[in-house]
Amino acid sequence: MSARNILVINCGSSSLKFALINQAHSQPLLSGLAERLDSPEATLHWWRSSHIREHLALPGADHRIALEHLLPMINDACGGRLHGIGHRVVHGGEHFTQSCLIDDAALQAIRATVTLAPLHNPANLLGIETTLNLYPQLPQVAVFDTAFHQSMPEHAFRYALPEQLYREQGVRRYGFHGTSHRYVSQRAAEITGLAVGDSCWLTAHLGNGCSTCAVVDGQSRDTSMGLTPLEGLVMGTRSGDVDPNLHSHLARTLGWSLEDIERLLNHESGLLGLSGLSNDMRSLEQARSQGHRAATLAIEVFCYRLAKSLASLICALPRMDGVIFTGGIGENSPLVRGKTVFYLSLLGLSVDKVANARCVGGVTGEINPPAYPRILVIPTNEEKQIALDTLTLLNS
Ligand code: AMP
Repeated sequence: MSARNILVINCGSSSLKFALINQAHSQPLLSGLAERLDSPEATLHWWRSSHIREHLALPGADHRIALEHLLPMINDACGGRLHGIGHRVVHGGEHFTQSCLIDDAALQAIRATVTLAPLHNPANLLGIETTLNLYPQLPQVAVFDTAFHQSMPEHAFRYALPEQLYREQGVRRYGFHGTSHRYVSQRAAEITGLAVGDSCWLTAHLGNGCSTCAVVDGQSRDTSMGLTPLEGLVMGTRSGDVDPNLHSHLARTLGWSLEDIERLLNHESGLLGLSGLSNDMRSLEQARSQGHRAATLAIEVFCYRLAKSLASLICALPRMDGVIFTGGIGENSPLVRGKTVFYLSLLGLSVDKVANARCVGGVTGEINPPAYPRILVIPTNEEKQIALDTLTLLNS
C-alpha cells in the first residue's frame, strides 16, 4: 500500500491549525493556521515543506470558509489522495480512554463533555462538524488531550472533596497535554532501547501551557494539570496552583467577580504576571540577561515550581529511567533546564553544560553527564501522534 495522507486539525474558538502529514515524510507536506476567524482581520497562513510562508486575507471568514479555501491547497499537496482526518479534542471526560473513529455516538459523547471544557470543546466540535460536511466520505478520528491520563489511579485523580461532586459533576483531575506526554515518552523508550511497556519517565511539557507527567510502562500514572488546564505549574499567562481561598479573598477584599478572577488566573498571571513584562520565555531570558529583576524572579519561580512538581511525581514511579524536557521552552531553554535540574540535585540529577547547550532548535539528546540519571530533550510532535493514531484506527 502506498504512503497515506492524513490531515490533522486543531480548532480553537477563533483559529484553526492544520498539518497535512504523509506517512513516508518526516515533515508535513503542508501546514499553517487560520487566525482571527469571524473578524475583519481573519487571515490564512500556510507553508509547504519549503517553509516559504504565504498568507491570504479572508475578512469575516469563519472556520468553514477557511477550510474551503484550504481544500484546493490540500488536494494539490497530496495529489487528491487524502485518506483521513485527525482532530485534536481537548476534553474527553471519563468516556474516552483512547482515540476513536468519529461516528454519531462519539459526537454525542464529545458534546456531553462541553461543560468540562466550555472554551475548547465547542471549537473542536465546530472543526469536526465542518470537515464532516466538507469530506463526508472520509474517516475522521478524535484524539483527546485527556485520554492518556485516564490510566491514573483513583488516589491520583480524586480531589479531597465530597464524593458527590465527583459522581454527579465529574469534579476530578483529568490532566491535559496527553498526546505530547505519550509521544515523548514513547520516543524516549525508542531512543534508549527500552521497551515502552517496561520504562518509567518523568515528562515536562513546557510551552505556553505547561504540565508534568509520570509515565509508567507507557501509561500516565499522575500529572500536574487537573479538572482544568490551570492546575499545577507556572505557565505563560496561567498562575498554576494558588491557594483555593484566593478566590474568596479577592471577592471579599476587592469585590472581584468570578469573571475578574478567572481572567486574572488564566490570562494575567504566570510568567506575564510575575514579570510584568511578557509571557514569552525568550523575552524574559533576554530581560534577565540585562538585569531585569522581575523577569529574573519569574524564571526562578517557574523553575522552582517545575522542580517541585517533578519531585512530587516521583511518588508515582516504581523506578526512574529518565526525565524528559519538551515543548517550546523544554526544547529550547538550557537556562530553564539547568535551573530546574539544580533544584533536583538530591535526586542525583545533574546537567552536562555542553550537552545542555547543544540541545536546542529541534535537536534531540541526553543532557546528563555520563553515569548520571538520564535527562533527555525530545522535541514533541503532537500532529504526528494524531496522524499516527488516525492511521492506526484506519487500519483497524
Ligand atoms: P510552545 O507553546 O510549545 O510553542 O512554546 C512557547 C514557549 O516556548 C514560549 O514561552 C517561547 O518563549 C518558548 N521558546 C521558544 N523558543 C525559545 C528559546 N529559544 N528559548 C527560550 N524559550 C523559547
